[in-house]
Amino acid sequence: MKKHNFSAGPCILPQEVIKKSAEAVLNFNNSNLSLIEISHRSKDFVAVMDNACALALEHLNLQNKGYKALFLQGGASTQFLMAAYNLLEKKAAYLNTGTWSSKALKEAKLFGEVIEVASSKDKNFNYIPKNFNIPSDIDYFHCTSNNTIFGTQINSFPEVNAPLVCDMSSDIFSRELDFSKFDLIYAGAQKNMGPAGTTLVVVKEEILGKVSRNIPSMLDYKIHINSESMFNTPSVFAVYVSMLTLDWLKNLGGISAIEKINNKKADTIYTEIDRNPLFKGFAQKEDRSKMNATFTLVEGANQELFDGLWKAAGISGINGHRSVGGYRASMYNALPLESVQVLVEVMKEFERKS
Ligand SMILES: *Cc1c(COP(=O)(O)O)cnc(C)c1O
Repeated sequence: MKKHNFSAGPCILPQEVIKKSAEAVLNFNNSNLSLIEISHRSKDFVAVMDNACALALEHLNLQNKGYKALFLQGGASTQFLMAAYNLLEKKAAYLNTGTWSSKALKEAKLFGEVIEVASSKDKNFNYIPKNFNIPSDIDYFHCTSNNTIFGTQINSFPEVNAPLVCDMSSDIFSRELDFSKFDLIYAGAQKNMGPAGTTLVVVKEEILGKVSRNIPSMLDYKIHINSESMFNTPSVFAVYVSMLTLDWLKNLGGISAIEKINNKKADTIYTEIDRNPLFKGFAQKEDRSKMNATFTLVEGANQELFDGLWKAAGISGINGHRSVGGYRASMYNALPLESVQVLVEVMKEFERKS
């Protein structure tokens, strides 16, 4: 039976990407060798890394603008400390919009003074704070573009007179933005780009080299730039699959094309959440995420009935995160509109049978 995969991460990838990846594991580029048993410094794999980096910059419209793309390891969680290690000399400002922001903020405190400019913790992170003040004497400002767990997303990024650093793990390549406003973008692959095991980092080179501390090699962006993401053995499989997904996105028409589909998916689910009397949305309307829709049943609704219905329809991965409860429908780039329509049909059927 066809599965409708709403998993929050690791999550759905395009079927053709999975198929091509499986083929490359058996026989890479007709070499009669597996992708995962050849040197990362072989000509064929270096071409994969180059292509993946080039495609990432192309999608973000950041070619020839002083940016470098890197594929590193350690997940987005390592970027929480790596960003601070490389950029925090005295003081940084953080916007706290959820679990991931909080973790990033905690790591940065190991390196200097950290100002929390605003937090939505007072309402269990169901909104994006607005109208906060950002101090002018900071080394950088950090925010999280999409809050995977709580289902909120930043629509309007603040103007800052300092480098703008953004964790885009769960919405990179999903919507058009002026990416040149950002100086450092990072994203774990496993939400919208590939399998777990690699993290995309896009950094404007001119912001580096300004802190006085010594940086261990593996945590130094400059070292990774100079060795073109090959300072040590990169996560070859994860980089390859990411490259295929970026290529898939390009063939589809890029971010502008996928954004239209993503808007349709989000509109489809939120329309039903708002219409159906048995459900209520978790995030405040104006800050709703187009990637992760969070919702709960109203009091007294028959949870067993709903859970039985979506499971029978082949839906998978919509249980909410433990800090929100209820349900979370993650609708990353590779999730077809049809899957969202199936979920909405199930929500309607639930209403009829309740
Ligand atoms: C999943 C996620 C992370 C953590 O990523 P890891 O690769 O597991 O370290 C960080 N930030 C956001 C926004 C996420 O969604």
